[in-house]
Amino acid sequence: MQKLIQGIHQFQGKSFVPMQGLFEQLAKGQKPETLFITCSDSRIDPALLTQAKPGDLFILRNAGNIVPPHGAGNGGEAATIEFAVAALGVKDIIICGHSHCGAMHGLLKPDQVAALPAVSAWLSHAETTRRIMRDNYGHLEGERLLTATVEENVLVQLENLRTLPAVGSRLVRGDLHLHGWVYKIETGEVFAYDVESAQFVKLAEYNPQIEPTVRRRTTNVI
Ligand SMILES: [Zn+2]
Repeated sequence: MQKLIQGIHQFQGKSFVPMQGLFEQLAKGQKPETLFITCSDSRIDPALLTQAKPGDLFILRNAGNIVPPHGAGNGGEAATIEFAVAALGVKDIIICGHSHCGAMHGLLKPDQVAALPAVSAWLSHAETTRRIMRDNYGHLEGERLLTATVEENVLVQLENLRTLPAVGSRLVRGDLHLHGWVYKIETGEVFAYDVESAQFVKLAEYNPQIEPTVRRRTTNVI
């Protein structure tokens, strides 16, 4: 805790001053262009990996970067996404999974989270992912199975995202774009789902204009 308090002193004494103008501007209102949905995992720093400044990203985080589908209950996720899409008018939504995801590990090994009833219930929103893995990825195991699960889950959650009325409406208008990313902790690389090849590709090879809509086959593991 002491480390964090020292960090705040350091922020106020050093980092804040050169950015004071930006913060004063932001105090009048926010206009982020991107909703960034990712896992709560401490090893991901959305602003660091995108080099975004305060005010750039509207961020939603939870275990497993999960988006409960429409009708799943009045959760904070639907409210946060609705606000971002219908009130702030974000132009892009990124769902970013990550390597070594504990939530996806729990999805594959439900007995290991059996003593965590809230986690188990939460992971039911990723049941489609679990079934896709069981029925299509029997040839994989260990780290490769986990990585493929992370990738498939990003795609499943993008589909859930489309069921939300505010998102569906903006997609029809064509002024909202969805993106599926996976962040690899050990290399700092980001892979994006490319709809044409139906694979996750390095970000440099990704065309952000094409939405990740149709999935035609199982993905290669990055
Ligand atoms: Zn995670």
